[in-house]
Amino acid sequence: MDAVTPPQEPEAFWSDARASLAGLPDGRGLNMAHEAVDRHLSGPAADRVAFRFLPKKGEPLEMTYRELAAESNRFARLLERLQVGPGSTVFLLLGRVPHLYVAVLGALKARCVVCPLFSAFGPEPIRSRMAAGDARVLVTTPTFYRRKVAGLREALPGLDHVLLAGPPEETTDPGVHCLADLLAREDAHYRIPDTDPQDPALLHFTSGTTGVPKGALHVHEAVVAHHVTGRSALDLRPDDRFWCTADPGWVTGMSYGIVSPLTSGVTSIVDEREFDAEGWYRTLQDERVTVWYTAPTAIRMLMKAGRELPRRFDLSSLRFIASVGEPLNPEAVVWSQEVLGLPIHDNWWQTETGGIMIANIPGQEIRPGSMGRPLPGVEAAVGRRTNGEVEVIREPDEEGELLLRTGWPSLFRTYLGQEERYRGCFQGDWYLTGDLVRRDADGYFWFVGRADDVIKSAGHLIGPFEVESALLEHPAVAEAAVIGKPDPMVGEMVKAFVALHPGYTPDEDLRLQIVGHARKRLGSVAAPKELEILDDLPKTKSGKTLRRLLKARELGLPEGDVSTLESPS
Ligand code: ATP
Ligand code: MG
Repeated sequence: MDAVTPPQEPEAFWSDARASLAGLPDGRGLNMAHEAVDRHLSGPAADRVAFRFLPKKGEPLEMTYRELAAESNRFARLLERLQVGPGSTVFLLLGRVPHLYVAVLGALKARCVVCPLFSAFGPEPIRSRMAAGDARVLVTTPTFYRRKVAGLREALPGLDHVLLAGPPEETTDPGVHCLADLLAREDAHYRIPDTDPQDPALLHFTSGTTGVPKGALHVHEAVVAHHVTGRSALDLRPDDRFWCTADPGWVTGMSYGIVSPLTSGVTSIVDEREFDAEGWYRTLQDERVTVWYTAPTAIRMLMKAGRELPRRFDLSSLRFIASVGEPLNPEAVVWSQEVLGLPIHDNWWQTETGGIMIANIPGQEIRPGSMGRPLPGVEAAVGRRTNGEVEVIREPDEEGELLLRTGWPSLFRTYLGQEERYRGCFQGDWYLTGDLVRRDADGYFWFVGRADDVIKSAGHLIGPFEVESALLEHPAVAEAAVIGKPDPMVGEMVKAFVALHPGYTPDEDLRLQIVGHARKRLGSVAAPKELEILDDLPKTKSGKTLRRLLKARELGLPEGDVSTLESPS
């Protein structure tokens, strides 16, 4: 079998998908914000709630599609008044508050490039990203401005305007304005200018799991993929109450926390509060969430909180759960079925692909531990790089790099300032993802590990995911990460780091028990030779385990870029 060929040829599929969106009136192009918001104003979703915000303090606040259209029009007009032209970059540094959503959509309408930053970033990651992205405008809060940005102004000479969401503080810094005041002066009508589907729209920095984060640039027509994958992989329907737990500072929070659900006219729940197991179950219950898109780290934290807690909540509104960002261990799928009454549908994509590519779709058998099959319009294969060429591996069950045939609309268009690196990601028609996978005879893809993380031991290639999944089966293990540690005999040996569930004592006895369990499950080649128990594992702010940091620490090497490290541990 060659690549898994979808039922409809990808070209025809995407052409139909494009036709399912409206486009700007009079054939003036395709604008992401028009498809997300304005398109609904003449239909049944016009007065439906687009976002229901649950603030840290105070009462929930709702914004309908009509209100969102008006507010984002004001923002677009404001940018024009400030002479911020098409192609200029608007950065966002704020929590999940209404102004963020208004600014994203308004900036897209004005054909600016939107770049969200995770609001917990400190000054240096903010400076480096804003400098790389040539920031013209920043939308932030008065506190973030004072604490994180004011001291950077000299280093960011191109930053002309800072728009503050929230009560302004006294400042004499140039270009600092109160956003609410300025918006109130703008008219709520706006005509989106002609937009070429290939105009840049979104700039996203990757999670920095494998190294310095890269800035991936996406164009307006990515909305076509956001729309159809929201339906095919997340099963979004107009009457859904959808909760995407990802922060808009990451690509998931933008593609599926903002754009995709809006294109389908659904109501999104936006919870500004941080993770808290009880609080999350309460949100699922009280907001009658029907479709929930979350991440393996969050699921592992819910698992850590025990099986008793969810029993106290009525979660009967939920009908679909999906997860992305890291491999979803089979344990988690089984847990979810038992505890929440529904399985979790794992899906795979990355900042560069702009949208979900491989998924366990509704109605299709779930094979726990597999990320599913390519979505309609996506052609995926397993390949091997040899002498600058890629060779597609035709037989099933072979490990190799995940390849995707180019041609889908949300594929990134460049790495900011790294054109050569960008070109290096392609061979002929294939985009090379840098992830290692296996495809079974039925076309299901199984994640093996990132190419960088794979361990070469005594002539064997060992994927960290399989080892970590086996460790997680042990009742004491809450989190696991494995690395290859240089070894004179076998090249690299498997070293594991685990964090425990509450109530377990990290003593030698337990350590040996866990190693014994892994050996029984995996055999002697793949089982960890060393195992260390830590209080918790270092993660990115988007929840990904930082294996490279564990490795650097283990080997006493420099830690590299830690701008996305969750909290020093
Ligand atoms: P960087 O590129 O800076 O190292 P990153 O790759 O973690 O960071 P993202 O684009 O946010 O940045 O993450 C995409 C990666 O996350 C994928 O390439 C893959 O390695 C991993 N990933 C995403 N979803 C899954 C999944 N369902 N199963 C396994 N891995 C996944
Ligand atoms: Mg990556």
